[in-house]
Amino acid sequence: MKCAGFSNNDISVLFPDKTGTRDFAHEQNTKAPEGAMAGGATGLAVGGILGWQYANLFRLQSWLRHRAHEDPPDIGGVWGEVIAIISRIYRRKQFHKRRVMQQFREFRRLSAALPDGVVLLSAGREIRWFNRTAADLLGLRRKVDIGIPIANLVRDPEFAAYLAKPAGNGVVVHMRGRDAWLALFVIPAGDQYLMLVRDVTREVRLEQMRKDFVANASHELRSPLTVISGYLDELVEDDDIAPEWREPLLDMRRQAQRMREIVEDLLELSRLEATADEAPMAPVDMPALLERIVREARASPADSPPRFELHLDPGCWLRGSETELYSIASNLVSNAVKYTPAEGTVTLRWGREGGGARLVVQDTGIGIAPEHLPRLTERFYRVDRARARAKGGSGLGLSIVKHGLQRHGGRLEIASEEGQGSTFTAQFPARRVLARPAAVTKVS
Ligand code: ADP
Repeated sequence: MKCAGFSNNDISVLFPDKTGTRDFAHEQNTKAPEGAMAGGATGLAVGGILGWQYANLFRLQSWLRHRAHEDPPDIGGVWGEVIAIISRIYRRKQFHKRRVMQQFREFRRLSAALPDGVVLLSAGREIRWFNRTAADLLGLRRKVDIGIPIANLVRDPEFAAYLAKPAGNGVVVHMRGRDAWLALFVIPAGDQYLMLVRDVTREVRLEQMRKDFVANASHELRSPLTVISGYLDELVEDDDIAPEWREPLLDMRRQAQRMREIVEDLLELSRLEATADEAPMAPVDMPALLERIVREARASPADSPPRFELHLDPGCWLRGSETELYSIASNLVSNAVKYTPAEGTVTLRWGREGGGARLVVQDTGIGIAPEHLPRLTERFYRVDRARARAKGGSGLGLSIVKHGLQRHGGRLEIASEEGQGSTFTAQFPARRVLARPAAVTKVS
């Protein structure tokens, strides 16, 4: 190697060789002449040392620059050790890098094979990465949409609220541009979020077809049933009818009435399901509504009703749909009456509770075994079919209660013990609770 006016030979004479065993100081002492000669030799030696160090530094720097393609330089002593350490660190780093790349490629391959879309979001809900399915479903563009807040691309108020606080079962949004329905589910993952996207257009359309079919069929059945009931009413009242036909005609009238109730309930359920919006916010005098329902139940000619106990807060009103709230409360009260013997008690409590309000309908009737509780609000689910039929239930009452409550932002809780009685609690959120208006307070 040539460097700064020194040849390799000069350096090898002046400095320790690779083994580093030569005693330079001793050689200087024994060989150097006195005075200027000695000074010149020392200067030469220092310059030599610096030159050698500089040459090694230069080789190290050049190798570091091209280390991806070049072997490390063969230098001995301390430089050799430094190079060996750097080489080790570099090899380790390369190994980790290869492993990470391999894992990333594997992840990309797997995520591309997923039938669901996957979007990685930052803590601020900006898009960091997405797979091909997500790009297709959400119309994302690889270069353009990275770093864009997801709420800018999926514009839906329900999704925005869910994104702010991802909990529960996710949301289904309508992508108007493509007329597709997507189920979006956001999972917190450390300081970022993973969003799963699934196309549920087919399921939503099938569900809509089912709802439309039930609504149309119920609607079509309504008119013929009204005509049949009308003729049966006339025939039952007709004195010319042979006595042996009286009982069958009364039974036919009862069954026609039952069918009309089922059709009415189906229509009400269809109407509740058809509207995705929340119920209106009209003021409803709940205590008066509950008193009316109890009056009607007491006057019902069908059964001998149980005793009623009422604990109603007259100052607690609700904002909602009076028709739907009537339907919720009357279904709960009529069930309590149906499944409680005449000597039992039905207790109604109405008032504020924990910021919201609640209606409790408690009975001392036959009760319900625990295995039935989770299924009670399903359509046509009955604990005892024969008994429910004899009592004249449609099997739709609690479904109507559940949907009606959902439209009011509320929920239904059921507690029961077989043979002891049941407690149905309808909870309403604070935003639905209303103090009795002042004008009404003055009058009463
Ligand atoms: P139904 O019209 O048959 O009463 P619902 O949907 O109102 O239909 O109720 C579903 C089932 O839940 C009923 O068939 C009955 O078995 C049970 N159920 C509802 N309310 C009560 C209650 N208060 N006590 C005992 N069982 C009840």
